[in-house]
Amino acid sequence: MRIGVDFGGTKIEAAAIDDAGGFAARVRRPNPGSYDSALAVVSELVAEVEGSVGATRAIGIAIPGSPSPLTGLIRNANSQYLNGRPFQADLQQDLGRPVRLANDANCLALSEAVDGAGEGHASVYAVILGTGCGAGLVIDGQLVEGRHGVAAEMGHNPLPWATIDEVPGPACWCGQSNCLETWISGSGFARAHHTATGRDWTCEQIVEAMRAGDAQAIEQVNLLRDRVARALASVVNLVDPEIIVLGGGLSNIPELYEGLDKAIAARVFSDIWNAAVVPARWGDSSGVRGAARLWE
Ligand SMILES: [Zn+2]
Repeated sequence: MRIGVDFGGTKIEAAAIDDAGGFAARVRRPNPGSYDSALAVVSELVAEVEGSVGATRAIGIAIPGSPSPLTGLIRNANSQYLNGRPFQADLQQDLGRPVRLANDANCLALSEAVDGAGEGHASVYAVILGTGCGAGLVIDGQLVEGRHGVAAEMGHNPLPWATIDEVPGPACWCGQSNCLETWISGSGFARAHHTATGRDWTCEQIVEAMRAGDAQAIEQVNLLRDRVARALASVVNLVDPEIIVLGGGLSNIPELYEGLDKAIAARVFSDIWNAAVVPARWGDSSGVRGAARLWE
């Protein structure tokens, strides 16, 4: 039995995973949006899960951002009230036990590598195309976090092979501009569509219009696919993973995968590129499942 928590921007979920990989318990609540209330929600959810399975465990938590190896304080979280806070220390005090934190995209990568879409592959690169854009890398079953905890992150690298229409690009909350997160996240996709069309639509509305044959929506989805392909091709040229797993809301758009491989292969520095790009097996549950595996 393992217990994990997914600390998401809109919801917080806790789950117990049994030894066969099934859910023994799972509970979720909206993220209250402030630090002290969110800390309390985590403790309450852990108590609920442990009460229902009758077991207490060390806790793994998937978070946006990561703890700084220099200070231990959270940085780079798009739930920005976490930044600069001693989240791990506070959780350990509240829960009275050791807690491991990892970036939510790292938890996705770990979950999908162990028993998800990347199972059986020696290297798994996983990307969240959600509220933000995070990524993680697992090699031979081990999460690669890097010396400074930012290994595999691509969300705040600039959009590669940018066209004249794409530069200088939008300002990003991180202080840079033209970050991948400003293009290939849900908010980035909606913004790009808005800039091009003047329509203030959600991602769902754009996708619906694309399926109904709306020419501007089709063009924007095609551009999104090409931007994702450029991002992944630059990863392949650095890491050349065996398989790429996509998570987050945009990963649920089947049309995104149509022709994606050709668009990646066109930019990969190799005469052949035939790795698969697939949606996460565990969908939105990958964060909580990966978090539960941080103590393996
Ligand atoms: Zn950025």
